[in-house]
Amino acid sequence: MCGCAEPPHYPGGCRDCSSPGYYADIPYYYCQEYNPNEVDWPGDSGGTGGVSMPDLADLPSVAVAIRPEECLQRIPGDLDGNCQRDAYEVCMLDGHGHDVCACVADGGNLYDCSIENCLGYMPQNNLSSAQIQSIYDFLDDNDCSDEAKAFTELALEALPDGEVDYVLEIIFEITETIEFQNQTCLKSIKDEVVSTGEMKKIAKKFQPTHPVLDLEWGMFTNTNWGNTGNTGLNANQDGAFINLNTESLSHVNNIVMVQTIAHELIHAELYRKLKELVDDYNLISLSEYNALQDNFMGIADYTLRYGNVIFEETAGQIIAWGLDPDLSLAHHNQMAAFYRQSIIDAMKAYDLSEGIIRLNAEEFYEALSWAGLRITSDENGENSQYTDVWRNFKDQIDIEEADIPESDRTYSRYLDIISQEYNGSGINCN
Ligand SMILES: [Zn+2]
Repeated sequence: MCGCAEPPHYPGGCRDCSSPGYYADIPYYYCQEYNPNEVDWPGDSGGTGGVSMPDLADLPSVAVAIRPEECLQRIPGDLDGNCQRDAYEVCMLDGHGHDVCACVADGGNLYDCSIENCLGYMPQNNLSSAQIQSIYDFLDDNDCSDEAKAFTELALEALPDGEVDYVLEIIFEITETIEFQNQTCLKSIKDEVVSTGEMKKIAKKFQPTHPVLDLEWGMFTNTNWGNTGNTGLNANQDGAFINLNTESLSHVNNIVMVQTIAHELIHAELYRKLKELVDDYNLISLSEYNALQDNFMGIADYTLRYGNVIFEETAGQIIAWGLDPDLSLAHHNQMAAFYRQSIIDAMKAYDLSEGIIRLNAEEFYEALSWAGLRITSDENGENSQYTDVWRNFKDQIDIEEADIPESDRTYSRYLDIISQEYNGSGINCN
């Protein structure tokens, strides 16, 4: 009588029908095409028959199986006619094949089952659910073609650390040296840090459509374990490497390595932006500088302020300068002024994921965000000078807190917190 199978309704309770309020009992409870000639209208003296009864033999078998006392109408996709859609039926209704849906009915999730069905095996990499969904979408969009399968195989070799652009079918690898991978606890801390928030965004930019820089994670060994990490570019300036100090791992607490990883990633980010517009960071031309100013004003500003002028010819409007030999001042002053919140957020996200709650949390994170940003060091890790940002901060505190002893002032408490976390018992993932 009614066109509506959903929502379920009792006879006469349906809406948006050609004849609302009218119903006839149909023992088999299915919707049939409305045909006024077959309906005995109330008060219509012309008819006697009521609704024509469907011939049982004409009904599809599933309809026959519906039991009136349990079902009010046939549910679309209810293949076995038990008045409910199980996982298999929902999956089939969604247009997937029998094999995939049988796997889903067995408790598998749709993405895993579809990928396994297409590739013939389930990828064993430690993939995130977002990565699995991307693979699923890609294979599904390409109807599991041989080309799509071949590309997926290549992508799986780069995942989970690499990045895959499925639209352009480009794979970008973020590599880790064997030495880095062998540091399983450190690697798990790094994986956690680059999985959320700002750090995730920064890490992802090493795989844009036209990659400016590759990024590699590695280790170095320096007995000065307070020097927890460094970031540099290779000679061609097309690859950035972040190296972490093996010696630090047996001294500092996890949170120090979290802070270090965030700190080094920001170095890499500053390099990447610079290299997007500058051919050689040791020799920046005026036109490159102008481009930097238009795009990354902060980098232009700090490079000019702290870089070294190498060559200047004002008449011809040619000036050139670079970050060589010490980019530390430009980077660390910029980081101290503009990136400490990103470092704080990374530490908070890590602690949250580990269920760690800090006493005086705001002061704790604020303090640690300064580690590595108070004093700049040269390429050998030798301390050179305080950053301007730290000196200004300290001067301000000395004015504001002039009435309390220096050892109690905010910056002294910060230094105590930093010292405590650096002089820890080593990183620990248990
Ligand atoms: Zn640094």
